[in-house]
Amino acid sequence: MHSHLMDEDTNTQASAPITQDVMTIPRKMPEGPINLVGLTRDALREVLIAHGAPQKQAKMRAGQIWQWIYQWGVRDFAEMTNLSKVYRAELAEAFVIAVPEVVSRQVSDDGTRKYLVRIAGGHEVEVVYIPETDRGTLCISSQVGCTLTCSFCHTGTQKLVRNLTAGEIIGQVMVARDDLNEWPERGTRTDGPRLLSNIVLMGMGEPLYNFDNVRDAMKIAMDPEGIQLSRRRITLSTSGVVPEIAKTAEEIGCLLAVSFHATTDEVRDKLVPINKKWNIAALLDTLREYPKVSNSERITFEYVMLKGVNDSDADARRLVRLIQGIPAKINLIPFNEWPGAPYERSDWARIEAFAEIVHNAGYASPIRRPRGEDIMAACGQLKSATERARKSKRAIEAEAKL
Ligand code: SF4
Repeated sequence: MHSHLMDEDTNTQASAPITQDVMTIPRKMPEGPINLVGLTRDALREVLIAHGAPQKQAKMRAGQIWQWIYQWGVRDFAEMTNLSKVYRAELAEAFVIAVPEVVSRQVSDDGTRKYLVRIAGGHEVEVVYIPETDRGTLCISSQVGCTLTCSFCHTGTQKLVRNLTAGEIIGQVMVARDDLNEWPERGTRTDGPRLLSNIVLMGMGEPLYNFDNVRDAMKIAMDPEGIQLSRRRITLSTSGVVPEIAKTAEEIGCLLAVSFHATTDEVRDKLVPINKKWNIAALLDTLREYPKVSNSERITFEYVMLKGVNDSDADARRLVRLIQGIPAKINLIPFNEWPGAPYERSDWARIEAFAEIVHNAGYASPIRRPRGEDIMAACGQLKSATERARKSKRAIEAEAKL
């Protein structure tokens, strides 16, 4: 897709690498400036103490720096005016506030924006912003490539290169806010309508195979002195990593979506191969027990409409039977083709007939309007040029200090 054929060697950062390996406060601090973006509040306080902040003051200092970074989008310590000039200079010595670099920015005829961003090690991921009249949704990635190989998904053809750090995940939100110029005046809160009002973890990667980093990043997004997004404005989409699903409710508290896409194990094994590990019955049992499910917090079942594969009336009837008893809504996604894709989109008449059966059974069944197709930004079209060809897993993980 994007022909940014990367020469890995030239992408290795010459200067001392930015480190983030401070969650466990190693005895000897790592070389090079520490990136504060993505640290939890506790970890931020710990690194300030490790760099000389008096224990008594550390919490307050961490709170002040946190607000500058996440509430007002400040990237330069010199601008943190409620800290002494001396301390600001010390901070600038030891730390950086780094977000992914925007390599390209494309805007679709329908207003959808797609960013290709570069992270440590020169890897690239795609981020998509979808404006609507009453809201704006940012679709973010959690992995470079993907652990899984769903056959309808372009990302699924890209081997997993590595997990994103918490800083690289929340960094996507910060980059989009920069582009939308949506940081509030310093000293004020983000009140009123927002351009970036919703986050969906539906970009590249399986978020539940990178749970800790996703959790920490979403906690920053939900923090009242951070980006202040309500947990109900964040949706995590999983292909069905059954053992990790309940943790989403317990440790993040956001809404849940499931890449369901089929009504028989035979078909789902092909479309979503993780089904061979946890099949439809196992997945539905887990969803029935989902700690946060209710009529006001329904689980979203994503269902890609593939011609002659999973779009029959019988499929629609089976679908509503399968999910009985689960507060749910079904998002019907007309398949978005990509080069070499083995499927075709169902005809509109077929999609509408399917939607009607689901709707008549009492479920909301909106048909997702494809957005950003002209810039390959639609669901399932994301892929970056980064390939895992030449570097060992250890080398790649070392770059991100994972
Ligand atoms: S649908 Fe999600 S889990 Fe499946 S290959 Fe694509 S990105 Fe990975």
